[in-house]
Amino acid sequence: KIVANKKQFIVIGLGRFGGSVCRELVRIGHEVLAMDKDEQKVNDFAKLATHAVVADSTDEQTLRSLGVRNFDYVIVAIGDNIQESILTTLLLKELQIKNVWVKAKNDYHHKVLEKIGADQIIHPEKDMGRRIAQQMADDKIIDFIELSSEYSIVELLATPKLAGKTLIELNIRAAFGVTILAVKQGEEINISPEPDYNITEGDLLIVIGQNRDIRRFEDVAM
Ligand code: ADP
Repeated sequence: KIVANKKQFIVIGLGRFGGSVCRELVRIGHEVLAMDKDEQKVNDFAKLATHAVVADSTDEQTLRSLGVRNFDYVIVAIGDNIQESILTTLLLKELQIKNVWVKAKNDYHHKVLEKIGADQIIHPEKDMGRRIAQQMADDKIIDFIELSSEYSIVELLATPKLAGKTLIELNIRAAFGVTILAVKQGEEINISPEPDYNITEGDLLIVIGQNRDIRRFEDVAM
């Protein structure tokens, strides 16, 4: 598979989380070095990953000999062993890897990772829980990206109430302060729709704005 900006990744720890990251990276066409100290896990990924190695990531010499410096991104997906996760992250930052993403287990772990320079700290269960809660609580939201604590991009499913109306008629930007970036109809996507675009039921509206404005748009217009 050919992707425009092919990157090289290392996934350290092939448990449920790391394994899932690894499979998805391969699926979208990137090169992945899969690493675990458990031989069985490595065998499971030998066919799938670009390379799979049995190695202990807390061993600096091992990391050096694997040439980790040449990789764009490293994901530390070591589950329960906080100490090894921290030491691995420290070594990777010492080796000047620019993008080290680390799965954190708790707040203490998070704090230490932050201090030693982890570039992204992930709490898979907490993060997913929040996403699911937001999607459940608001059934018009199909998907969303949090840009900051105040701004988001959300994908809203056009309701019958919106159907047949044009963007100019709804006066969305002036009345609600939100902007429609694009409209998706199945596989087709219309970027920056014209003011006279006529909404049909089932359109997916990709909207950017302040959260409270997006909510108001949903409550009043939809
Ligand atoms: P999850 O909750 O994502 O399933 P697990 O704890 O099951 O996480 O998986 C973590 C993986 O990380 C295990 O397969 C384990 O062998 C691996 N691992 C733990 N420490 C190291 C290490 N120092 N080097 C390489 N792999 C490690």
